[in-house]
Amino acid sequence: AKEQGRGRYAFFDPQINARNQRTMKIKTGLNQALARNELSLVYQPRVLADTEQVTGYEALLRWHSQELGAVSPAEFIPVAETTGILEQMTEWLLQRVVDDLGSAVLGGKQISVNLSPRQFQTGNWADTLRRTIEQHRLQPEQLCIEVTESALVENFQATAHQLEEVQALGVEVAIDDFGTGYSSLEYLKRLPIDYLKIDRSFVSDIETDADDRVIVETIIVLAHSLGLQVVAEGVETRAQADFLRARGCDELQGYLFSAPRPLSELGVQQVKN
Ligand code: C2E
Ligand code: CA
Ligand code: CA
Ligand code: CA
Repeated sequence: AKEQGRGRYAFFDPQINARNQRTMKIKTGLNQALARNELSLVYQPRVLADTEQVTGYEALLRWHSQELGAVSPAEFIPVAETTGILEQMTEWLLQRVVDDLGSAVLGGKQISVNLSPRQFQTGNWADTLRRTIEQHRLQPEQLCIEVTESALVENFQATAHQLEEVQALGVEVAIDDFGTGYSSLEYLKRLPIDYLKIDRSFVSDIETDADDRVIVETIIVLAHSLGLQVVAEGVETRAQADFLRARGCDELQGYLFSAPRPLSELGVQQVKN
C-alpha cells in the first residue's frame, strides 16, 4: 500500500489486481470464443469396474483462446457462469454432442454433460433436452446430465424440480463431486438420481489415507442402499481401481483408462499401468 497520495490507492494490491485483469480478459475472450470457433470438446470414457468395458463418455469443454492460450474449464466455467455466456456454450456443446452421438466411435454409448448449479436458476434444461431429443430422435438414455452436489445445497427447489422433469424424459442424472458438498441424505432420497460420482479428492488418497478409504466405502454402501450406481472419478492407479472394484464400486473413470480426448483420438487405446 502506498503511504502517500490519495486514500483510494491505500488498498491497492497488485495480486488482486492481476487476478481481476485475468478475469476481465477471460470474460472478454469468452464473448468471442464461440464466433471464433475456439471451443472444442473432449470425451473421457467411463468403464465397468468388473470388465473395464466402456459404458459411456463424459463430454468436457476445452477453450483455446487466441489471446490467453489454453484456459482450463476450472477457470473459465465459473467466469462464464457469471456472464450468462455459459448458456450459449452449453447449447453449442449439446449440439456437438448430438452430432457426435451418431459417430461410429461413440457407438451409441451414453454421453454425460455437465450442468452448473447456476444453470438451474437461469434456464429450463428439461425443455432444452426435450427439444433436442425430439428434434434428433434420440434415445433419452443416451444422455446423462451431471450436476454438482453443491447445486442441491444452494438451490434445492429449482434443481430438484428440473431434475424430476429431466428424469421423466428418460435422461439419466448423476450427482457430481459427491462428498464435497454436505448435501443431506434426505435430498438424495427425494431426488431422481441414477448415479453418484465420488469426487476425485477421495479417490486420489485411497492408498495412503485410511479416512478416505472409509469415506469411499461408506458412499458406496449408502448409494447402493438407495438404489443408486456409483462412479469413481479420477482413478489413476491400478491399486485404486482394485480397491474400488473390491468394494463394489460400479464404474470407474480416470487417467488409468484414458484422459479426456477429442473424438478423433478416442479409438486409440493407451492404458497406463
Ligand atoms: P468434473 O466434472 O469433475 O470433471 C472431471 C475433471 O477431472 C476433468 O477436468 C477431467 O479432465 C479431470 N480428470 C479426469 N480423470 C482424471 C484423473 O485420473 N486424474 C486427474 N487429476 N484428473 C482427472 P477438466 O476437464 O479440467 O474439467 C474441470 C471441471 O470443469 C469439471 O469437473 C467440470 O466441473 C467443469 N466443466 C468441464 N466442462 C464443462 C461443461 O461443459 N459444463 C460445465 N458446466 N462444467 C464443465
Ligand atoms: Ca462431471
Ligand atoms: Ca466430478
Ligand atoms: Ca471433481
